Amino acid sequence: MTFESLGLRAELLRALTDSGYTEPTPIQAQAIPMILEGRDVLAAAQTGTGKTAGFTLPMLQKLSSGKTAAHPRRMPIRALILTPTRELAAQIEESVRTYGAHLPQLRAAVVFGGVKIGPQITTLNKGVDILVATPGRLLDHISQRTVNISQVEILVLDEADRMLDMGFIRDIKKILSLMPHKRQNLLFSATFSNEIKDLADGLLDSPVRVEV
Ligand code: AMP
Repeated sequence: MTFESLGLRAELLRALTDSGYTEPTPIQAQAIPMILEGRDVLAAAQTGTGKTAGFTLPMLQKLSSGKTAAHPRRMPIRALILTPTRELAAQIEESVRTYGAHLPQLRAAVVFGGVKIGPQITTLNKGVDILVATPGRLLDHISQRTVNISQVEILVLDEADRMLDMGFIRDIKKILSLMPHKRQNLLFSATFSNEIKDLADGLLDSPVRVEV
C-alpha cells in the first residue's frame, strides 16, 4: 500500500516524503479513500495510530481542489477540527502545517483558551481555511464574531470521548447548531460509550466505520 494509491495529490505526497513516511498506517489506509469520497466517518482510534494524518491529508486535498488563491480576509472558515486540549490543538495545527507545506493557498490557525485572545484575532482576520480549536475558546470567538462557522464544509471531532469527559457536550451542541447542515463529519474516539453513540447518531450521515 502506498500513499499514491490512496489518491493523494502530488503536493501532499511531497510533504509525506519530507516527513519520512513510506506507507500509510492502517487507519490512514482505511479512512483516507472514504473521506476523499465525501463519506462521514466514525473512527475508533487511539493516539499513536496516525489518525491525525488520517483526517488532515484528505481534508487538505478536498479543500485545495480548485483553489489557487489565498483565503480572503475575514471570510468564513471552511474546515473545523475540534479537540479537547490546548496541547492536542497545537499538535494538530502543527500537523496541518507540515502536511500542507506545499499547498500555500490553504491557511490554518489554532485557537485555545488560557491565553490572550488578541493575537488569535489578528491571525484569524488574515483569512483562515482550516481552524483547529478547543470548544470553549471557539465559542468566545464566535460570540465576538471573530470566527464564522456558517460555511463549514468539513467538521472533525477529535478525541470525542475526552471532550465529553471534560464536560464539553453543551459547547459542542451549540457549535453544531451554528454550522450548515450540509457538511462532511468525521468523528474520532478511542472509546464508545452510549453518550458517544448518541452524539454520533445525531451527527453522522450513514457513516463508514473505521477500526484499528
Ligand atoms: P497520531 O496518532 O496522529 O498522533 O500520530 C502518531 C505519530 O505517528 C505522529 O508522530 C506522526 O508523525 C506519525 N505518523 C503518522 N502517520 C505516519 C506514517 N504513515 N508513517 C510514519 N509515521 C507516521
